[in-house]
Amino acid sequence: MTEYYEDIQLRLIDIIDLYPEKNRKKLGLDLLQRIIERMEETYKGCDTCQFYQDLIEEIITKIENDDKTYKKDMRTVKAHLLKEHHLLEEGFFMAIFMILGVIVGIVLGTVFSNLPVFLGFGISFGVTIGSMIDAIAKKKNKVL
Ligand SMILES: [Zn+2]
Repeated sequence: MTEYYEDIQLRLIDIIDLYPEKNRKKLGLDLLQRIIERMEETYKGCDTCQFYQDLIEEIITKIENDDKTYKKDMRTVKAHLLKEHHLLEEGFFMAIFMILGVIVGIVLGTVFSNLPVFLGFGISFGVTIGSMIDAIAKKKNKVL
């Protein structure tokens, strides 16, 4: 680990310690931690990621000073990682397959005149398949 990332991680851990667990997700601290961990690999071959290292420092400073505009900066870095480094958002397939499940459930429920049963079946089928594929994507290190 380089000195930069060591320093950033320590500052982030200090911040995380200040917040109860349920606030961390809302504030995006868990995501920020994953972004930093990911960038520790991606910065080596990517000028943009190297450039964003300063932005990450700014984000941390903003959080330390309770400046909420850090969320916009974080979206910028996240968008870069998703697009240029071909990563997926957490729960990406779950969201897609749940929508598919609802659609299939509505269609079959209408055809067989039993909407509640088929809708329920469609949703649970979508959640099951979606979370399975999400788990595979995570295992393959494709999820931010
Ligand atoms: Zn990059």
